[in-house]
Amino acid sequence: MKVLVIGAGQMGSGIAQVAACAGLSVTMVDISDQAVQRGQVAIAGSLAKLSEKGKLSEEPALIAARIVGATELAAGADAQLVIEAASENVELKLDLFRRLDETVQPAAILASNTSSIPIGRIAAATKRPELVCGMHFMNPPPLMPLVEVIRGLESSDETIRAVKAAAEAMGKTCVESVDSPGFIANRILLPMLNEAVFVLAEGIGDREAIDTAMKLGMNHPMGPLALADLIGLDTCLAVLEVLHEGLGDPKYRPCPLWRRYVEAGRLGRKSGRGFYEYA
Ligand code: NAD
Repeated sequence: MKVLVIGAGQMGSGIAQVAACAGLSVTMVDISDQAVQRGQVAIAGSLAKLSEKGKLSEEPALIAARIVGATELAAGADAQLVIEAASENVELKLDLFRRLDETVQPAAILASNTSSIPIGRIAAATKRPELVCGMHFMNPPPLMPLVEVIRGLESSDETIRAVKAAAEAMGKTCVESVDSPGFIANRILLPMLNEAVFVLAEGIGDREAIDTAMKLGMNHPMGPLALADLIGLDTCLAVLEVLHEGLGDPKYRPCPLWRRYVEAGRLGRKSGRGFYEYA
């Protein structure tokens, strides 16, 4: 099977890698040669680490050779499956799906890795809404075993079946979700992270107490504040806003502390400081 991955960022490069590891031919498209190269460097680094740990059945170079970089959608026009992982921006994604619909062969499935944009809205930008669905990988795709398959209002059973089969061929386990804000995983996770931030803001416990309580008390591998730092506080805030607006329930209101941190540039690990400090 030929796969076209749109975006060579954190998620796109990881998805391209996972597809290539499964033996699929991949075209990975981004907007500039520089962005494509950044993605290829990230893939080479990740494959080298996995190889050192004995987790690959092939030479890293053989796997990487199955990924062709490009800056034009037309380079992947013969793909049977498109996995879109471009930046999380509604207008950008609607324009991309309009262009994909015109460029990629009519029978191809167009899947989006979006975390928050309704699949129905993306599908409506195309003339093949029955062939559109969500394929939500977790970060980082090479390590996380879950894919949420999102059924839009118009997604056909055949589309959902084919996307699940493709994810399983990539070694992933699928759960199916209706097209609703946060899908399943973020709908459950983000309110918990939000509550941890309220507990911190109200002075009920300090950061170490909160994370230790959830690690040792609930057997979570990581405390909620450390996990928020890993995801990015800006990303967490954006998902909470989608839940709050999309579901219209005040229980999802983001704790004001998220905004104070984000406004101050404390975004978590990626900026060197969030709830914790990173070297
Ligand atoms: P990122 O910023 O790392 O990468 C996005 C890439 O898309 C960039 O390289 C950018 O140049 C490229 N891009 C922008 N416009 C494009 C276009 N028109 N054509 C081709 N490429 C284009 O972002 P990311 O974290 O990889 O997120 C990508 C998608 O995955 C988003 O929809 C996001 O919601 C979703 N997602 C992210 C995570 C996460 O934890 N980061 C988890 C699950 C899903």
